[in-house]
Amino acid sequence: MTDAHDPHRRDYAFLAQDSKAVTHDEPMWSGALSFCRRRYGRDLAGADVAVVGVPYDQSVTNRPGTRFGPRAVRAASSQLGWSRAWPSPFDPFEALDVIDWGDVLIPHGHPTEVPAAIEAAMAHILDAGVTPLAIGGDHFTTYPAMKALAAKLGQPLAMVQFDAHTDTWEAPGDWIDHGTMFARGVSEGVIDASKSIQVGIRTTNDDPMGIEVWDAIRCHEQGVAATVEAIRRRVGAAPVYVTFDIDCLDPAFAPGTGTPVCGGLASWQALAMLRGLAGLDVRGMDVVEVSPAYDVGEITALAGATIALQLLCLHAQRPGGPAA
Ligand code: MN
Ligand code: MN
Repeated sequence: MTDAHDPHRRDYAFLAQDSKAVTHDEPMWSGALSFCRRRYGRDLAGADVAVVGVPYDQSVTNRPGTRFGPRAVRAASSQLGWSRAWPSPFDPFEALDVIDWGDVLIPHGHPTEVPAAIEAAMAHILDAGVTPLAIGGDHFTTYPAMKALAAKLGQPLAMVQFDAHTDTWEAPGDWIDHGTMFARGVSEGVIDASKSIQVGIRTTNDDPMGIEVWDAIRCHEQGVAATVEAIRRRVGAAPVYVTFDIDCLDPAFAPGTGTPVCGGLASWQALAMLRGLAGLDVRGMDVVEVSPAYDVGEITALAGATIALQLLCLHAQRPGGPAA
């Protein structure tokens, strides 16, 4: 029997002998799902990065459905597990020990406990010395994840936010949703506005809380290289959380999301911008707002998976990282 017929060389999510196993021979259309065929489980020993799903969508202002985002992104990522990441000069799964930690258990019967549950899961991963790559979920889920990272590092975080929306709208009292959490993040000292930047914005907000805004028109007029330069200048050497709201992309490239806005980035532009950020000190990252029920041909989920893979490459290229 040839290797290709060996029944053990399948279902790498659960049967791989080690986290760095080459998984290219598992058929794209079959098998147990994990992000890019990585080892699926709660054991963080030896891991560099834990992909973690956050299937929560109760903070949306319009269409729901992002609770199914992690599954859709995992399914789409099976296409990316088929070969070495392109056009990366290195194999991120060789450079980094990446596991799929599974999903945060959302306590839906105790809705007020959800933010703490997400924060605790992220803190658990960080305390093991592992970097989380979160797959949302609506964009509110970024907030407890950033709180956990800021607490771990003991300082406010620089933030690079790809989004159609600023998510810094202020709301009265303790109101918080997927469009207001970054105003809270700035006012509570989780986000360092002076080192943070938003890219691809195409909504009106008179007070972006001191965060630099590169709206989509500016990105289109000045191009990828100028946008990258602006991000690098803003963030500098600070530890940074990169959050990618999939609605940063134009609805032509990412229809499967809750609050689509026309005039956004093409997927090639966003991927080129992310590649341009190699060398930033990326300490936390996520892809959020993929809502599969509104998707067409799974293109939004595939965009989300591809962006997540690029974020892994960025983490590997941080100063002192294995691919620096
Ligand atoms: Mn958005
Ligand atoms: Mn957002």
